[in-house]
Amino acid sequence: MAENRDKTTDQMKLWKENRGAQRPDTLTTGAGVPIGDKLNEQTAGPRGPLLVQDVVFTDEMAHFDRERIPERVVHAKGAGAFGYFEVTHDITRFCKAKVFEHVGKTTPIAIRFSTVAGESGSADTVRDPRGFAVKFYTEEGNWDLTGNNTPIFFIRDALLFPSFIHSQKRNPQTHMKDPDMVWDFWSLRPESLHQVSFLFSDRGLPDGHRHMNGYGSHTFKMVNAEGQAVYCKFHYKTDQGIKNLTVEEADRLASSNPDYAIADLFNAIANGNFPSWTFYIQVMTFEQAEKFRFNPFDLTKVWSHKEYPLIPVGKLVLNRNPVNYFAEVEQIAFDPSNMPPGIEPSPDKMLQGRLFSYPDTHRHRLGANYLQIPVNCPFRARVANYQRDGPMCMTDNQGGAPNYYPNSFSAPDVQSCFKESKFKVSPDVARYNSADEDNVTQVRTFFTEVLNEEERQRLCQNMAGALKGAQLFIQKRMVQNLMAVHPDYGNRVQALLNKYNAEAQKNINVHVYSRPGVSAVAASKM
Ligand code: NDP
Repeated sequence: MAENRDKTTDQMKLWKENRGAQRPDTLTTGAGVPIGDKLNEQTAGPRGPLLVQDVVFTDEMAHFDRERIPERVVHAKGAGAFGYFEVTHDITRFCKAKVFEHVGKTTPIAIRFSTVAGESGSADTVRDPRGFAVKFYTEEGNWDLTGNNTPIFFIRDALLFPSFIHSQKRNPQTHMKDPDMVWDFWSLRPESLHQVSFLFSDRGLPDGHRHMNGYGSHTFKMVNAEGQAVYCKFHYKTDQGIKNLTVEEADRLASSNPDYAIADLFNAIANGNFPSWTFYIQVMTFEQAEKFRFNPFDLTKVWSHKEYPLIPVGKLVLNRNPVNYFAEVEQIAFDPSNMPPGIEPSPDKMLQGRLFSYPDTHRHRLGANYLQIPVNCPFRARVANYQRDGPMCMTDNQGGAPNYYPNSFSAPDVQSCFKESKFKVSPDVARYNSADEDNVTQVRTFFTEVLNEEERQRLCQNMAGALKGAQLFIQKRMVQNLMAVHPDYGNRVQALLNKYNAEAQKNINVHVYSRPGVSAVAASKM
């Protein structure tokens, strides 16, 4: 038994071994004052009471009382690791960002993988999209690609995001996950059909974090040294190969090993089996975007690989585990608005919404100075600005440098070469309804052309197995939406629902008839 323990199980043993013959440090308070006794409170007599002057106790307890920071509203359960990005193909014709400067160039990275809806202690193997966020520590500041393991998302308008997430989390009264909430929202918003279909397909249960692809998902802009801009999408394909869990295996792991994906990533890296992903872009010119048959900034759709082929760029490699989970994974903060010169947002409404929401949530969760926390600090760039003070300022606060701009004292100044690219915007301002922007064509291609027959069957089974928990009118509305994708999709799910609903009805009848004093006639009126 002892010989077969994996690297996560042996962490304490290995930590001790790494220290070698080094003597233990002297135990101190948070203020560094040496402590003489850490096992016994200071009391008046052996039976108490406790003295307020026992600062060894109060220092320890007061800090313990404050150990938890707010959990992420989404993506609370995660695993992280560190490594590098290496450029293997030149894309300077599209992008001037230094991270792509020349073939062979490497840039340190951090990646955090996560589930979305579950809390920090929830199981890793639930059916849920996976977060796949990459932080590139470039010499032009941090670049965060805050992506997922799917190239698309459930909605295309960020105003719906809080409601969408509420519907996937817990019922406000029962504090239970609620199939009515989940399926009511999805069935009322058919733009979710593409992502819901991905979610209930085999890829909805990835086998750990190493065996899935990542996608920047949004459309971004790339600008080259001449100031020419194109739209682009980012894809990172697993070099380990796609591997998914069966429903049965995922269920078994959820109860027997809920931290399966964290352990898998940690052990692989600790054993020198470094996971990697091949990094690609798709590129669309502004002219192509204008003539495109659908909105190229719609996050519920992909750009076809056939029309916009994947262009290889580089490799993401993870070769270091976090030294401390809280410091480096719980506190890491990804923000799509962190973009170095050469990478800019597209008009994608979801991206635009996230540009505000992500740094906003970090300021709430970690504090206004969260970018000073080592894992978030752009350590390869020098931060020079006019932001000062705030809670937990951990640097010299930029010393005596002027704290206003403009000024006459040779303080940090702009360089016009870093101005964002210009673009035209002329339409009327309004709240445009995007609910009906072709919610079915790509889902139909996915169902009929991407999936094989067994995969289609499993998709329908997985979906019906979850949808059966919702009320009949919600089931009906969802099936109508599936019918619009393809009659075969809707009919299959409806047939399975009919079976499940009949079984459920039989159970109710058995239950009711078996209650003393309830006649069949009375039961039928219930
Ligand atoms: P392609 O045939 O060129 O691409 C299909 C893509 O589907 C594959 O490259 C693969 O993307 C992905 N895929 C393959 N098997 C599965 C599966 N079992 N579950 C989920 N995804 C799978 O056609 P198009 O580019 O024209 O896209 C056709 C449809 O494929 C789209 O409507 C969309 O539903 C789906 N798709 C497209 C992607 C894209 O970016 N174009 C990406 C993913 C899915 P990958 O290699 O990224 O895993």
